[in-house]
Amino acid sequence: MNPAPHDIGEEFFSALAQPGVRGLRAYDPGHDLVALRRRFSETALIELGSNENPYGPSPRALDAARASLADAHRYPDPLGGDLGRALAARHGVAPTQILLGNGSHELLMQFAQVFAGPDADVVASRYGFAVYALGAQAAGARLRVADAHPRDHASQPRGHDLDAIAACISDATRLVYLANPNNPTGTWFAGDAFAHFMQRVPDNVIVVVDEAYAEFALDDADGYRSTLALLPRHRNLVVTRTFSKAHALAGLRVGYAVGDAGLIAVMQRVRESFNVNMPALAAALAALDDPAHLAAGISANRAHRAALIDTLRSRGWIVTPSATNFVLVEFGERTAMIEASLLASGVVARPMAGYGLPDCLRITIGTADDNARLLAALDAIAG
Ligand SMILES: *Cc1c(COP(=O)(O)O)cnc(C)c1O
Repeated sequence: MNPAPHDIGEEFFSALAQPGVRGLRAYDPGHDLVALRRRFSETALIELGSNENPYGPSPRALDAARASLADAHRYPDPLGGDLGRALAARHGVAPTQILLGNGSHELLMQFAQVFAGPDADVVASRYGFAVYALGAQAAGARLRVADAHPRDHASQPRGHDLDAIAACISDATRLVYLANPNNPTGTWFAGDAFAHFMQRVPDNVIVVVDEAYAEFALDDADGYRSTLALLPRHRNLVVTRTFSKAHALAGLRVGYAVGDAGLIAVMQRVRESFNVNMPALAAALAALDDPAHLAAGISANRAHRAALIDTLRSRGWIVTPSATNFVLVEFGERTAMIEASLLASGVVARPMAGYGLPDCLRITIGTADDNARLLAALDAIAG
């Protein structure tokens, strides 16, 4: 347990912080997994709370990370040159259009640091990823939250409503954050709708499209297209990706942004000099070189997601359509009890009260075994 704020003088120092930070609460990473793993060391904890990839990274990535340690006494390549060039080639852009991050979370925060500030508005959607609000507030900017699609929307319940987002953009707006697909809803918007949206955004407003789950949605979700294709048409558009999800390298912390070379050059000014470490650079580069491993994980996720959604729905739960490696499930009034009971039986799901969804849990798609244990635990609780 963390001590209460007054015990550690947090209020005193909070008053000394710059205004944006005063009202902030630290990112909530969910449960204390280290303590839970210790508690369930014998039965194995089923970790479905953080959208990690249960199949693990490419063996080539792990080999490369290990080999890189021979140079651990040196600083890593400050420019991440090899990885940057490989990503540029992959996406058909120039290496100067790639910005590497210690996870994409870092970059998402820095967009607000660079492009927003005390006089600026930042626009995001209701039920958008929590980091957008953090980034806006930390920069001292005002966050404008656009309404999401309603809960009973035909195809994208609680998904991003691009018209509502466009309507929130004003002369004060400097930055827009969108996630496609979105976490925690799992919803996505179609490429055509987004192209239309971009035509309505003035070119002095930076639009950040967070594609952390793009690999799961491509060639799968109806109408889904990566926003990368629109980059040549809109210099105010920037796309973030991560190695944490489909590439299963969450523990090494590598993400990146792709955008206009000028925009990336400005972002470079606030980047820490050696922000991506040596094993992370090596592992990410090697992971790009193992498309078969990536594809196997994606197709396993797809199959188990479909099976899990079918089963949950057959039990009467409401499940939001998902283009990702997780599902948002409505458990109604018993949500908190179900979450606690799952945890007591060693199954971690993510509570959603922080997103204003206290009657939902977000559940990562696990292996077939993980999902069977989840369902068995659910049946025992709620059956
Ligand atoms: C997991 C996730 C990220 C990735 O964070 P990293 O810092 O790259 O691990 C970014 N955006 C969303 C919406 C996510 O769910």
